[in-house]
Amino acid sequence: MLSALRAPASVLTALVVLTTVSATQAPAQASQPTVVAIDGVLCDLTRTLVAKDVKVVCLIQPGSDPHNYRLKPSDRQALSKASLVLHNGFKLTPSANKISGSAKVIAVAEKALPANDGSDPHVWHDPANSAAMVAVVADRLAPVLPASQRSALAARAAEAINVLNALGDWGTKQFATIPENQRVLVSEHQAYSHLTKRYGLRQITMLDSFTTGGLLRPSSLRTITAEVQGSGAQALFPESLPVSKTLRRISRSTGLPVYSSPLFADGLAPNRSTVGTATLNICTVVKGQGGQCDQVAADELIARWSAIR
Ligand SMILES: [Zn+2]
Repeated sequence: MLSALRAPASVLTALVVLTTVSATQAPAQASQPTVVAIDGVLCDLTRTLVAKDVKVVCLIQPGSDPHNYRLKPSDRQALSKASLVLHNGFKLTPSANKISGSAKVIAVAEKALPANDGSDPHVWHDPANSAAMVAVVADRLAPVLPASQRSALAARAAEAINVLNALGDWGTKQFATIPENQRVLVSEHQAYSHLTKRYGLRQITMLDSFTTGGLLRPSSLRTITAEVQGSGAQALFPESLPVSKTLRRISRSTGLPVYSSPLFADGLAPNRSTVGTATLNICTVVKGQGGQCDQVAADELIARWSAIR
């Protein structure tokens, strides 16, 4: 705990030195190790854990779809130069499997949650799973960093896990404000089983698939309409705007409104961290289902996360 508290000042000093050196000596940058983070929340987890002397290349941008992502020539170039390649695993991004097999390519969620059945790759929606992923990423980053940076890495990882555990507890308090008979989440694809399991909600998905872009059969429309109408659902939660045709059809057939802002199922929300995305998603579900969200406490968690350096 003490070392975690002391870390920021020493890291800051190191950063000032490194920034000065790299600004004046171009060749120093050439030897800078590169880590590629492919999908899910790994871009932010990795950037939070490394000092500025590791270059992090993030392939799938916030708000983009990992399920149908195809590697670009520039991605392949970054991958070939990387000291370490991190992807979520559990087939979140099928194209990432084409580059697996090398010792430097790590399926982080699969390492973090070896007992998980992998039927829903969006594991980070339970903050405890994100904390387990932080431990795996920190472990794999250690040999990539200079020896002198490893204690700072360990301190950052410890604080990141603390914040994610606090996020998990904060989530429990928010979901407790939803009336008991309304603790259900109706979403588009199967992306929230880890969230709903953690917080005791029922998950109803409109698409019988954990990937995006599926189609709804007419027989499914009847089944889903009946299931949603008796569930206590107050709203349907979109995953992208404009709202999909499938969602509009189910809104018409159930008489339920589509919530005004989307959930971010597949990774980071634009301009938000892992914690910022999680609090946004949780507040969206809680408010949409008739509960109340403590935004002040959420903002404190977001600030603690961004203070890790
Ligand atoms: Zn997804």
